[in-house]
Amino acid sequence: MPLSEFDIIERFFHRPERSRDDVLLGIGDDAALLAVPCDRELAVAVDTLVAGRHFPPATRAFDIGHKALAVNLSDLAAMGAEPAWGTLALTLPEVDEAWLQSFADGFFTLADRYDVQLVGGDTTRGPLSVTVQVLGPVPRGRALRRDGARPGQRIFVTGTLGDAACALWQMQAGEQVAPRLLERLNRPEPRVAFGRGLAAVGSAAIDISDGLLADLGHIVTASNCGATVWVDRLPRSPLLTAQVPSAQLLVSQLSGGDDYELCFCVEPTKVAALQALARDCALAVTEVGVIEPQPGVRCRHDDGSDYQPGVRGFDHFA
Ligand code: ADP
Ligand code: MG
Repeated sequence: MPLSEFDIIERFFHRPERSRDDVLLGIGDDAALLAVPCDRELAVAVDTLVAGRHFPPATRAFDIGHKALAVNLSDLAAMGAEPAWGTLALTLPEVDEAWLQSFADGFFTLADRYDVQLVGGDTTRGPLSVTVQVLGPVPRGRALRRDGARPGQRIFVTGTLGDAACALWQMQAGEQVAPRLLERLNRPEPRVAFGRGLAAVGSAAIDISDGLLADLGHIVTASNCGATVWVDRLPRSPLLTAQVPSAQLLVSQLSGGDDYELCFCVEPTKVAALQALARDCALAVTEVGVIEPQPGVRCRHDDGSDYQPGVRGFDHFA
């Protein structure tokens, strides 16, 4: 007997033993009921991953489960919010129990790490597509919005840039992909603890899903200002340096998507507090530019000469 929709939910996604205190009603009713503390706002993010569009159809189910949640946790991190609850809308071409088990393992391994409870969802048949929503509280008025950048603020990024884009290029070219790079593409590590701490230190933030230039562009547009990026200071992993010809390094760092690092702005007076936060989170942060009044994002070398980027970022409809 093939599993019914309800069997799938019970077997793979309903885990009553892992209930948070603030979940009044989880999976099983028409809607979940969540208790939001009255001194908090609720941050909500949703993202869809479509097979063949956001990941190759052959991607391991574990990685799809991880990434579908990770990209949403990254959005909440970029708001300075604490992820608490999730929903999952799953469209499956067929019921493949091994696939479902591996997908659920990838999803819940990450969810449990951050104490995120799956409180509902929807299960339908069709071409493989995964939509995850994550919700979580953020202290009133403290969320890291895109419109908080002001001239004079320093621009920072977490971690290193370009690894995920390099993995995608190698995959698309049919080359052997270095395992560490593939991990950056398939298992992005959302900067959850750092993002929560940044709510008290930063002025504006975004997660880098479409490339630094495109995403920093969203910050300066929302904030009615501009920026200069010092391209020689962009952080990169030793592996990227080894794998990518030097002419392409800056393209991957400036325009490569899928890194899910954070790009954020900090008042000069808060830089010491930022460094302390980065130490506490054991996460590297690198100053890569400055916010300026003139609109647009300019790229400069350390010798003062301009750098003209080619590709600016990924757009689904371009
Ligand atoms: P309804 O018809 O009222 O929308 P469903 O039959 O779609 O309810 O779902 C039954 C319950 O199972 C609901 O609480 C729903 O949130 C939950 N659910 C359905 N699919 C999933 C899923 N993939 N993951 C988690 N919960 C799910
Ligand atoms: Mg439903």
